Amino acid sequence: VVLIQVNDVYEIAPVSGGREGGMARVASLKKEFLAKNPNTFLLMAGDFLSPSVFNSLQFEGKSIRGRQMVEAMNAAGTNLAVFGNHEFDIREQELMDRINESAFEWVASNAFHKTAGKVEPFYKKFGRKKDEIQQAFTMEVKDADGTIAKIGFIGITIPSNRQDYVNYTDPLRSAKHIYDSLKNNVDAVIAITHQEIKDDILLAKAIPGLAAIIGGHEHDMRYEKVGKVQITKAHANARSAYVVKLKIKTKRDKVNTSTELRYLDEKIPLDSHTNVVIEKWTAIASRNFASIGFDPSKVLIKKSVPLDGRETETRFRSTNLTRLIVSAMEAAAPQPDVVLFNSGSIRIDDIIHPPMTQYDLIRALPFGGGIQQVEMRGNLLIKTLDQGMNNRGNGGFLLYNEAVKYDTSKNRWLLKETPIDPEQIYKVAMTDYLLTGRETNLAYLEPKNTDILSVYRYQPHIGHPMSDIRQAVIRYMEARGFELE
Ligand SMILES: [Zn+2]
Repeated sequence: VVLIQVNDVYEIAPVSGGREGGMARVASLKKEFLAKNPNTFLLMAGDFLSPSVFNSLQFEGKSIRGRQMVEAMNAAGTNLAVFGNHEFDIREQELMDRINESAFEWVASNAFHKTAGKVEPFYKKFGRKKDEIQQAFTMEVKDADGTIAKIGFIGITIPSNRQDYVNYTDPLRSAKHIYDSLKNNVDAVIAITHQEIKDDILLAKAIPGLAAIIGGHEHDMRYEKVGKVQITKAHANARSAYVVKLKIKTKRDKVNTSTELRYLDEKIPLDSHTNVVIEKWTAIASRNFASIGFDPSKVLIKKSVPLDGRETETRFRSTNLTRLIVSAMEAAAPQPDVVLFNSGSIRIDDIIHPPMTQYDLIRALPFGGGIQQVEMRGNLLIKTLDQGMNNRGNGGFLLYNEAVKYDTSKNRWLLKETPIDPEQIYKVAMTDYLLTGRETNLAYLEPKNTDILSVYRYQPHIGHPMSDIRQAVIRYMEARGFELE
Protein backbone atom coordinates (compact mmCIF):
# COMPACT_ATOMS: atom_id res chain seq x y z
CA VAL A 1 0.00 0.00 0.00
CA VAL A 2 1.33 3.44 -0.89
CA LEU A 3 0.18 6.44 1.11
CA ILE A 4 1.17 9.79 -0.36
CA GLN A 5 1.13 12.51 2.26
CA VAL A 6 0.91 16.26 1.96
CA ASN A 7 0.13 18.70 4.77
CA ASP A 8 -0.19 22.44 5.36
CA VAL A 9 -1.03 23.29 1.75
CA TYR A 10 -2.35 26.82 1.37
CA GLU A 11 -1.62 27.33 -2.30
CA ILE A 12 -3.25 25.42 -5.14
CA ALA A 13 -0.62 26.71 -7.61
CA PRO A 14 3.15 26.14 -7.42
CA VAL A 15 5.22 28.40 -5.14
CA SER A 16 8.86 29.62 -5.36
CA GLY A 17 8.26 31.29 -8.71
CA GLY A 18 6.58 28.15 -10.07
CA ARG A 19 9.49 25.84 -9.36
CA GLU A 20 8.07 23.92 -6.41
CA GLY A 21 4.82 22.51 -5.07
CA GLY A 22 1.28 22.96 -6.35
CA MET A 23 -1.60 20.50 -6.33
CA ALA A 24 -0.97 19.58 -9.99
CA ARG A 25 2.44 18.18 -9.01
CA VAL A 26 0.85 16.29 -6.10
CA ALA A 27 -1.58 14.76 -8.60
CA SER A 28 1.28 13.66 -10.87
CA LEU A 29 3.09 12.01 -7.98
CA LYS A 30 -0.03 10.05 -7.09
CA LYS A 31 -0.45 8.95 -10.70
CA GLU A 32 3.19 7.86 -10.84
CA PHE A 33 2.65 5.46 -7.92
CA LEU A 34 -0.86 4.49 -8.95
CA ALA A 35 0.50 3.22 -12.28
CA LYS A 36 2.62 0.70 -10.35
CA ASN A 37 0.26 -0.06 -7.48
CA PRO A 38 -3.54 0.30 -7.49
CA ASN A 39 -3.41 0.55 -3.68
CA THR A 40 -2.13 4.12 -3.77
CA PHE A 41 -3.91 6.79 -1.72
CA LEU A 42 -3.45 10.53 -1.29
CA LEU A 43 -3.76 11.91 2.25
CA MET A 44 -3.98 15.51 3.46
CA ALA A 45 -2.79 15.96 7.06
CA GLY A 46 -4.58 19.25 7.80
CA ASP A 47 -4.40 23.02 7.14
CA PHE A 48 -5.60 23.65 3.60
CA LEU A 49 -8.75 25.86 3.69
CA SER A 50 -7.05 28.88 5.29
CA PRO A 51 -5.14 31.20 5.37
CA SER A 52 -5.19 32.08 1.68
CA VAL A 53 -5.43 35.18 -0.48
CA PHE A 54 -8.55 33.57 -1.90
CA ASN A 55 -10.20 34.12 1.48
CA SER A 56 -10.44 37.86 0.79
CA LEU A 57 -11.81 37.36 -2.74
CA GLN A 58 -15.32 36.80 -4.03
CA PHE A 59 -16.71 34.48 -6.66
CA GLU A 60 -20.36 34.00 -7.66
CA GLY A 61 -21.35 36.46 -4.92
CA LYS A 62 -19.72 34.51 -2.08
CA SER A 63 -16.37 34.54 -0.31
CA ILE A 64 -14.21 31.83 -1.88
CA ARG A 65 -12.88 30.59 1.49
CA GLY A 66 -11.15 27.35 0.53
CA ARG A 67 -13.48 26.39 -2.31
CA GLN A 68 -10.51 26.65 -4.71
CA MET A 69 -8.55 24.16 -2.59
CA VAL A 70 -11.35 21.61 -2.31
CA GLU A 71 -11.77 21.68 -6.10
CA ALA A 72 -8.01 21.25 -6.57
CA MET A 73 -7.88 18.40 -4.02
CA ASN A 74 -10.83 16.69 -5.73
CA ALA A 75 -9.10 16.95 -9.10
CA ALA A 76 -5.81 15.65 -7.68
CA GLY A 77 -7.55 12.51 -6.37
CA THR A 78 -7.32 13.15 -2.63
CA ASN A 79 -8.66 10.18 -0.68
CA LEU A 80 -8.68 11.21 2.96
CA ALA A 81 -8.20 14.42 4.98
CA VAL A 82 -8.00 15.44 8.62
CA PHE A 83 -8.86 18.86 10.06
CA GLY A 84 -5.97 21.19 10.86
CA ASN A 85 -6.36 24.16 13.19
CA HIS A 86 -6.76 26.51 10.21
CA GLU A 87 -9.82 24.65 8.86
CA PHE A 88 -11.74 26.34 11.68
CA ASP A 89 -10.63 29.87 10.65
CA ILE A 90 -13.55 30.08 8.25
CA ARG A 91 -17.19 30.41 9.24
CA GLU A 92 -19.30 27.44 10.28
CA GLN A 93 -21.49 27.47 7.15
CA GLU A 94 -18.44 27.95 4.92
CA LEU A 95 -16.74 24.88 6.44
CA MET A 96 -19.93 22.86 6.01
CA ASP A 97 -20.09 23.95 2.35
CA ARG A 98 -16.45 22.89 1.84
CA ILE A 99 -17.10 19.48 3.43
CA ASN A 100 -20.11 19.04 1.12
CA GLU A 101 -18.05 19.97 -1.93
CA SER A 102 -15.28 17.50 -1.07
CA ALA A 103 -15.15 14.29 -3.08
CA PHE A 104 -12.77 12.77 -0.50
CA GLU A 105 -13.29 11.23 2.94
CA TRP A 106 -12.50 12.86 6.28
CA VAL A 107 -11.58 11.33 9.60
CA ALA A 108 -11.98 13.22 12.89
CA SER A 109 -11.37 11.37 16.15
CA ASN A 110 -11.30 14.39 18.46
CA ALA A 111 -12.91 17.34 16.61
CA PHE A 112 -16.70 17.66 16.52
CA HIS A 113 -19.41 20.05 15.41
CA LYS A 114 -20.93 22.04 18.26
CA THR A 115 -24.41 23.40 17.59
CA ALA A 116 -27.03 24.83 19.94
CA GLY A 117 -27.04 22.40 22.81
CA LYS A 118 -25.39 19.42 21.16
CA VAL A 119 -22.09 18.03 19.97
CA GLU A 120 -22.13 15.73 16.95
CA PRO A 121 -19.79 14.73 14.14
CA PHE A 122 -19.42 17.05 11.14
CA TYR A 123 -21.20 15.57 8.13
CA LYS A 124 -21.70 15.68 4.39
CA LYS A 125 -25.25 16.26 3.33
CA PHE A 126 -26.95 14.61 0.37
CA GLY A 127 -30.45 16.00 0.15
CA ARG A 128 -31.87 15.13 3.55
CA LYS A 129 -29.36 12.37 4.25
CA LYS A 130 -26.42 13.05 6.56
CA ASP A 131 -23.16 11.19 6.00
CA GLU A 132 -21.24 11.66 9.25
CA ILE A 133 -17.47 12.03 9.43
CA GLN A 134 -16.22 9.00 11.35
CA GLN A 135 -13.97 8.94 14.40
CA ALA A 136 -12.31 5.91 12.83
CA PHE A 137 -12.09 5.41 9.09
CA THR A 138 -11.52 1.92 7.72
CA MET A 139 -10.71 0.86 4.20
CA GLU A 140 -10.03 -2.41 2.43
CA VAL A 141 -7.23 -3.06 0.01
CA LYS A 142 -6.72 -6.10 -2.18
CA ASP A 143 -3.53 -7.51 -3.69
CA ALA A 144 -3.05 -9.27 -7.04
CA ASP A 145 -4.19 -12.68 -5.75
CA GLY A 146 -7.23 -11.24 -4.00
CA THR A 147 -5.98 -11.20 -0.40
CA ILE A 148 -7.84 -8.49 1.47
CA ALA A 149 -6.26 -6.31 4.16
CA LYS A 150 -8.00 -3.68 6.26
CA ILE A 151 -6.43 -0.38 7.27
CA GLY A 152 -7.84 1.77 10.04
CA PHE A 153 -7.22 5.52 10.31
CA ILE A 154 -7.35 7.76 13.36
CA GLY A 155 -7.61 11.55 12.77
CA ILE A 156 -6.23 13.91 15.41
CA THR A 157 -6.41 17.73 15.44
CA ILE A 158 -4.59 20.14 17.77
CA PRO A 159 -7.29 21.78 19.91
CA SER A 160 -5.82 25.28 19.54
CA ASN A 161 -8.38 27.08 17.39
CA ARG A 162 -11.27 27.66 19.78
CA GLN A 163 -14.39 28.44 17.78
CA ASP A 164 -17.99 28.48 18.96
CA TYR A 165 -18.92 25.75 16.50
CA VAL A 166 -16.10 23.29 17.29
CA ASN A 167 -15.72 20.92 20.22
CA TYR A 168 -12.51 18.99 20.88
CA THR A 169 -11.83 15.97 23.03
CA ASP A 170 -8.38 15.22 24.40
CA PRO A 171 -6.14 14.21 21.45
CA LEU A 172 -4.12 11.48 23.16
CA ARG A 173 -7.01 9.89 25.05
CA SER A 174 -9.22 9.96 21.95
CA ALA A 175 -6.48 8.36 19.85
CA LYS A 176 -5.98 5.55 22.38
CA HIS A 177 -9.71 4.94 22.61
CA ILE A 178 -10.13 4.74 18.83
CA TYR A 179 -7.01 2.60 18.48
CA ASP A 180 -8.38 0.07 20.97
CA SER A 181 -11.66 -0.09 19.08
CA LEU A 182 -9.84 -0.64 15.77
CA LYS A 183 -6.84 -2.82 16.47
CA ASN A 184 -8.56 -6.23 16.51
CA ASN A 185 -10.55 -5.57 13.36
CA VAL A 186 -7.85 -4.26 11.02
CA ASP A 187 -4.36 -5.25 9.82
CA ALA A 188 -2.76 -1.83 10.29
CA VAL A 189 -3.67 1.38 12.10
CA ILE A 190 -2.42 4.75 10.87
CA ALA A 191 -2.80 8.03 12.74
CA ILE A 192 -3.20 11.10 10.55
CA THR A 193 -2.49 14.01 12.84
CA HIS A 194 -2.26 17.77 12.81
CA GLN A 195 -0.48 18.69 16.03
CA GLU A 196 2.97 19.61 17.35
CA ILE A 197 5.75 17.07 16.81
CA LYS A 198 6.22 16.68 20.57
CA ASP A 199 2.61 15.47 20.79
CA ASP A 200 3.19 13.08 17.90
CA ILE A 201 6.15 11.66 19.82
CA LEU A 202 3.94 11.20 22.90
CA LEU A 203 1.36 9.52 20.68
CA ALA A 204 3.97 7.12 19.29
CA LYS A 205 5.09 6.25 22.83
CA ALA A 206 1.50 5.72 23.98
CA ILE A 207 0.54 3.56 21.00
CA PRO A 208 3.66 1.66 19.87
CA GLY A 209 1.54 -0.56 17.61
CA LEU A 210 0.74 2.25 15.12
CA ALA A 211 1.94 1.48 11.59
CA ALA A 212 2.77 5.19 11.03
CA ILE A 213 1.97 8.71 12.16
CA ILE A 214 1.30 10.93 9.17
CA GLY A 215 1.39 14.45 10.54
CA GLY A 216 1.28 18.15 9.77
CA HIS A 217 1.46 21.60 11.40
CA GLU A 218 5.22 22.26 11.42
CA HIS A 219 5.65 23.49 7.79
CA ASP A 220 9.25 22.40 7.47
CA MET A 221 9.68 18.66 7.02
CA ARG A 222 9.98 16.39 10.06
CA TYR A 223 11.00 12.80 10.53
CA GLU A 224 11.12 10.93 13.83
CA LYS A 225 11.27 7.28 14.72
CA VAL A 226 9.97 6.35 18.16
CA GLY A 227 10.34 2.61 18.74
CA LYS A 228 8.97 1.19 15.49
CA VAL A 229 6.66 4.11 14.79
CA GLN A 230 7.80 6.50 12.08
CA ILE A 231 6.46 10.07 12.16
CA THR A 232 6.50 11.98 8.88
CA LYS A 233 5.65 15.57 7.97
CA ALA A 234 6.27 17.07 4.54
CA HIS A 235 7.19 20.67 3.69
CA ALA A 236 4.30 23.16 3.58
CA ASN A 237 2.65 24.02 0.27
CA ALA A 238 3.52 20.60 -1.17
CA ARG A 239 7.14 21.58 -1.74
CA SER A 240 7.57 17.94 -0.83
CA ALA A 241 5.40 14.91 -0.17
CA TYR A 242 6.10 11.92 2.02
CA VAL A 243 5.61 8.53 0.45
CA VAL A 244 4.75 6.00 3.16
CA LYS A 245 4.78 2.39 1.99
CA LEU A 246 3.17 -0.39 3.98
CA LYS A 247 3.86 -4.07 3.44
CA ILE A 248 1.06 -5.89 5.20
CA LYS A 249 1.40 -9.62 5.89
CA THR A 250 -2.16 -10.43 6.86
CA LYS A 251 -1.67 -13.97 8.12
CA ARG A 252 1.43 -13.17 10.13
CA ASP A 253 -0.14 -10.03 11.55
CA LYS A 254 2.85 -7.96 10.53
CA VAL A 255 3.31 -4.54 8.91
CA ASN A 256 6.57 -3.19 7.51
CA THR A 257 6.63 0.56 7.00
CA SER A 258 9.13 2.44 4.86
CA THR A 259 9.15 6.16 4.16
CA GLU A 260 10.65 8.39 1.51
CA LEU A 261 10.59 12.18 1.17
CA ARG A 262 9.97 13.30 -2.41
CA TYR A 263 10.64 16.89 -3.45
CA LEU A 264 7.98 18.24 -5.78
CA ASP A 265 10.24 20.33 -7.97
CA GLU A 266 10.51 20.95 -11.71
CA LYS A 267 11.26 17.27 -12.33
CA ILE A 268 7.63 16.48 -11.48
CA PRO A 269 5.26 17.51 -14.29
CA LEU A 270 2.00 19.38 -13.68
CA ASP A 271 -0.96 17.02 -14.04
CA SER A 272 -3.04 18.54 -16.85
CA HIS A 273 -6.42 17.48 -15.42
CA THR A 274 -5.67 19.19 -12.08
CA ASN A 275 -4.02 22.15 -13.76
CA VAL A 276 -7.28 23.08 -15.49
CA VAL A 277 -8.76 23.74 -12.03
CA ILE A 278 -5.65 25.65 -10.89
CA GLU A 279 -5.73 27.86 -13.99
CA LYS A 280 -9.43 28.55 -13.57
CA TRP A 281 -8.95 29.83 -10.02
CA THR A 282 -5.71 31.66 -10.80
CA ALA A 283 -7.59 33.59 -13.51
CA ILE A 284 -10.38 34.46 -11.06
CA ALA A 285 -7.79 35.76 -8.57
CA SER A 286 -5.83 37.68 -11.24
CA ARG A 287 -8.95 39.55 -12.36
CA ASN A 288 -9.58 40.53 -8.74
CA PHE A 289 -5.97 41.68 -8.20
CA ALA A 290 -5.61 43.61 -11.48
CA SER A 291 -8.62 45.68 -10.47
CA ILE A 292 -6.74 46.86 -7.38
CA GLY A 293 -3.43 47.59 -9.13
CA PHE A 294 -1.40 44.37 -8.82
CA ASP A 295 0.37 42.13 -11.29
CA PRO A 296 0.50 38.85 -9.33
CA SER A 297 2.96 37.04 -11.61
CA LYS A 298 5.58 39.83 -11.48
CA VAL A 299 8.75 38.99 -9.54
CA LEU A 300 9.14 41.20 -6.47
CA ILE A 301 12.32 39.77 -4.94
CA LYS A 302 14.73 37.95 -7.21
CA LYS A 303 17.40 37.20 -4.64
CA SER A 304 17.25 36.94 -0.87
CA VAL A 305 17.36 34.43 1.93
CA PRO A 306 13.93 32.85 2.64
CA LEU A 307 11.55 35.31 4.32
CA ASP A 308 9.98 34.19 7.57
CA GLY A 309 6.24 34.82 7.92
CA ARG A 310 5.46 32.05 10.41
CA GLU A 311 3.13 33.12 13.22
CA THR A 312 5.39 31.41 15.78
CA GLU A 313 8.02 34.01 14.80
CA THR A 314 6.24 37.17 13.62
CA ARG A 315 3.98 37.38 16.69
CA PHE A 316 6.96 37.18 19.07
CA ARG A 317 9.86 39.02 17.43
CA SER A 318 10.91 40.80 14.26
CA THR A 319 11.89 38.66 11.25
CA ASN A 320 13.40 39.59 7.89
CA LEU A 321 9.83 39.75 6.49
CA THR A 322 8.55 42.14 9.19
CA ARG A 323 11.68 44.29 8.81
CA LEU A 324 11.07 44.51 5.05
CA ILE A 325 7.47 45.65 5.60
CA VAL A 326 8.42 48.21 8.27
CA SER A 327 11.24 49.60 6.10
CA ALA A 328 8.85 49.88 3.14
CA MET A 329 6.30 51.73 5.30
CA GLU A 330 9.06 54.04 6.53
CA ALA A 331 10.07 54.82 2.93
CA ALA A 332 6.45 55.37 1.84
CA ALA A 333 5.40 57.74 4.65
CA PRO A 334 6.61 61.37 4.89
CA GLN A 335 9.71 61.05 7.11
CA PRO A 336 8.17 59.40 10.17
CA ASP A 337 10.09 59.17 13.46
CA VAL A 338 8.39 55.90 14.35
CA VAL A 339 6.71 53.18 12.26
CA LEU A 340 4.25 50.78 13.88
CA PHE A 341 3.10 47.57 12.26
CA ASN A 342 0.70 45.02 13.77
CA SER A 343 1.96 41.48 13.24
CA GLY A 344 -1.60 40.17 12.74
CA SER A 345 -1.55 41.75 9.26
CA ILE A 346 0.73 38.87 8.21
CA ARG A 347 -1.46 35.86 7.46
CA ILE A 348 0.80 33.61 5.45
CA ASP A 349 2.03 31.51 8.42
CA ASP A 350 4.80 30.20 6.21
CA ILE A 351 8.33 30.76 4.95
CA ILE A 352 8.55 32.42 1.52
CA HIS A 353 11.29 31.06 -0.73
CA PRO A 354 12.55 33.46 -3.41
CA PRO A 355 11.96 34.30 -6.15
CA MET A 356 9.07 36.04 -4.44
CA THR A 357 6.27 37.37 -6.66
CA GLN A 358 3.67 40.05 -6.06
CA TYR A 359 1.29 37.15 -5.47
CA ASP A 360 3.47 35.96 -2.55
CA LEU A 361 3.28 39.47 -1.11
CA ILE A 362 -0.51 39.48 -1.45
CA ARG A 363 -0.74 36.12 0.28
CA ALA A 364 1.56 37.41 3.06
CA LEU A 365 -0.59 40.52 3.55
CA PRO A 366 -4.04 39.46 2.29
CA PHE A 367 -5.90 42.40 3.86
CA GLY A 368 -3.65 45.12 2.46
CA GLY A 369 -4.74 48.39 3.99
CA GLY A 370 -3.22 51.84 3.76
CA ILE A 371 -0.60 53.70 5.75
CA GLN A 372 -1.60 56.53 8.07
CA GLN A 373 0.71 59.08 9.61
CA VAL A 374 -0.15 61.09 12.70
CA GLU A 375 1.45 63.54 15.07
CA MET A 376 1.31 61.97 18.49
CA ARG A 377 2.32 62.99 21.98
CA GLY A 378 5.11 60.89 23.50
CA ASN A 379 2.99 59.58 26.38
CA LEU A 380 0.58 57.90 23.93
CA LEU A 381 3.50 56.57 21.91
CA ILE A 382 5.04 55.01 25.04
CA LYS A 383 1.69 53.52 26.10
CA THR A 384 1.21 52.05 22.61
CA LEU A 385 4.72 50.61 22.42
CA ASP A 386 4.29 49.06 25.89
CA GLN A 387 0.99 47.47 24.89
CA GLY A 388 2.50 46.24 21.61
CA MET A 389 5.15 44.41 23.61
CA ASN A 390 2.53 43.01 26.03
CA ASN A 391 0.59 41.70 23.03
CA ARG A 392 3.41 39.22 22.35
CA GLY A 393 1.88 36.05 20.88
CA ASN A 394 -1.20 37.65 19.31
CA GLY A 395 -1.84 39.75 16.20
CA GLY A 396 -1.56 42.96 18.24
CA PHE A 397 2.15 42.38 18.81
CA LEU A 398 3.75 45.50 17.32
CA LEU A 399 6.87 45.72 15.19
CA TYR A 400 8.68 49.03 14.75
CA ASN A 401 11.57 50.64 12.87
CA GLU A 402 15.21 50.24 13.86
CA ALA A 403 15.47 53.74 15.34
CA VAL A 404 13.21 52.54 18.17
CA LYS A 405 14.68 50.40 20.93
CA TYR A 406 13.56 49.17 24.31
CA ASP A 407 16.14 49.76 27.03
CA THR A 408 15.63 46.75 29.31
CA SER A 409 18.06 48.03 31.97
CA LYS A 410 15.98 51.16 32.59
CA ASN A 411 12.60 49.92 31.25
CA ARG A 412 12.19 52.79 28.83
CA TRP A 413 11.80 53.38 25.10
CA LEU A 414 14.56 55.04 23.09
CA LEU A 415 14.34 56.81 19.74
CA LYS A 416 17.79 57.12 18.16
CA GLU A 417 19.30 56.33 21.60
CA THR A 418 17.36 59.19 23.25
CA PRO A 419 14.51 58.39 25.70
CA ILE A 420 11.08 59.07 24.22
CA ASP A 421 9.75 62.19 25.95
CA PRO A 422 6.09 61.94 27.12
CA GLU A 423 5.57 65.63 26.32
CA GLN A 424 7.25 65.79 22.91
CA ILE A 425 5.38 65.37 19.61
CA TYR A 426 6.40 62.54 17.27
CA LYS A 427 5.52 61.68 13.69
CA VAL A 428 4.20 58.12 13.75
CA ALA A 429 3.31 56.07 10.65
CA MET A 430 1.14 52.97 11.07
CA THR A 431 -1.24 50.69 9.24
CA ASP A 432 -4.68 52.25 8.92
CA TYR A 433 -6.15 49.27 10.80
CA LEU A 434 -4.10 50.22 13.88
CA LEU A 435 -5.64 53.70 13.86
CA THR A 436 -9.20 52.31 14.00
CA GLY A 437 -8.82 51.21 17.62
CA ARG A 438 -9.84 47.65 16.70
CA GLU A 439 -6.47 46.02 17.40
CA THR A 440 -6.11 43.86 20.52
CA ASN A 441 -5.90 46.02 23.69
CA LEU A 442 -5.31 49.15 21.58
CA ALA A 443 -8.85 50.61 21.51
CA TYR A 444 -7.48 54.04 22.49
CA LEU A 445 -5.37 54.27 19.34
CA GLU A 446 -7.81 56.25 17.18
CA PRO A 447 -7.97 59.78 15.71
CA LYS A 448 -10.25 61.11 18.49
CA ASN A 449 -7.59 60.46 21.14
CA THR A 450 -6.55 63.90 22.41
CA ASP A 451 -2.87 62.87 22.30
CA ILE A 452 -3.18 62.54 18.52
CA LEU A 453 -2.74 66.11 17.32
CA SER A 454 -3.09 65.68 13.59
CA VAL A 455 -3.57 63.05 10.89
CA TYR A 456 -1.56 63.47 7.72
CA ARG A 457 -3.82 63.73 4.68
CA TYR A 458 -2.83 62.33 1.32
CA GLN A 459 -4.70 61.80 -1.90
CA PRO A 460 -5.04 58.01 -2.15
CA HIS A 461 -5.13 56.61 -5.66
CA ILE A 462 -4.63 53.04 -6.78
CA GLY A 463 -0.91 52.29 -6.79
CA HIS A 464 0.06 55.06 -4.35
CA PRO A 465 2.48 53.54 -1.81
CA MET A 466 0.44 54.93 1.09
CA SER A 467 -2.80 53.54 -0.34
CA ASP A 468 -1.80 49.95 0.44
CA ILE A 469 1.17 48.56 2.43
CA ARG A 470 1.70 46.01 -0.37
CA GLN A 471 2.17 48.86 -2.87
CA ALA A 472 4.67 50.34 -0.40
CA VAL A 473 6.64 47.06 -0.42
CA ILE A 474 6.52 46.92 -4.24
CA ARG A 475 7.90 50.50 -4.54
CA TYR A 476 10.55 49.73 -1.93
CA MET A 477 11.79 46.64 -3.80
CA GLU A 478 11.67 48.41 -7.18
CA ALA A 479 13.97 51.09 -5.73
CA ARG A 480 16.36 48.35 -4.56
CA GLY A 481 16.54 46.50 -7.86
CA PHE A 482 14.50 43.52 -6.59
CA GLU A 483 17.29 42.19 -4.39
CA LEU A 484 17.29 42.03 -0.63
CA GLU A 485 20.37 41.80 1.55
ZN1 LIG B 1 -1.50 23.93 11.74
